Amino acid sequence: MSDTTDCIFCKIVRGDFGTEFVAESDNAVAFRDISPMAPTHVLVVPKRHVSSLQDLLPGNSALAGELLELASTVARLEGVADSGYRVVTNDGADGGQTIFHLHFHVLGGRRLNAGMG
Ligand code: 5GP
Ligand code: ZN
Repeated sequence: MSDTTDCIFCKIVRGDFGTEFVAESDNAVAFRDISPMAPTHVLVVPKRHVSSLQDLLPGNSALAGELLELASTVARLEGVADSGYRVVTNDGADGGQTIFHLHFHVLGGRRLNAGMG
C-alpha cells in the first residue's frame, strides 16, 4: 500500500476526473473501464491504495469480501446477474496487470470465451 499521488485509480477515487461511479460502498467504488472488452465492463476498486491481491491478503479479508459484494451488486445493476458474468483480477506482470491499484473486472453482456488466456 504505497504511493497514491501518481496512481490513476486513486485519482479517480478522489474524483479528480469527475468519473461517474456505477456503484459505491463504504470502502470501494465501481466505474466503467475506459476501454471496454464487453458490453458491461466495470472495475471495482478499493478506495484506499492497495497495489494488488497479494498486497491485500492475508489480513484484509473484510475488504476483500466488500469488493466481491460490490462486484455482485454491479452485476445486478448492469442487468447481467441472470445471463452471467465474469469477475477477474490480474496480478503482476504474468497476470497482465497494467494498473497497480487493485481492481476486479466485472465483464458481461456477451458470451465470454471459455479460455483463461
Ligand atoms: P489491468 O490490465 O491492470 O488488469 O486492467 C487495467 C484496466 O484499466 C484496463 O482494462 C484499462 O482499460 C483500464 N484503464 C486504464 N486507464 C483507465 C482510466 O483512466 N480510466 C478507466 N476508467 N479505466 C482505465
Ligand atoms: Zn491507487
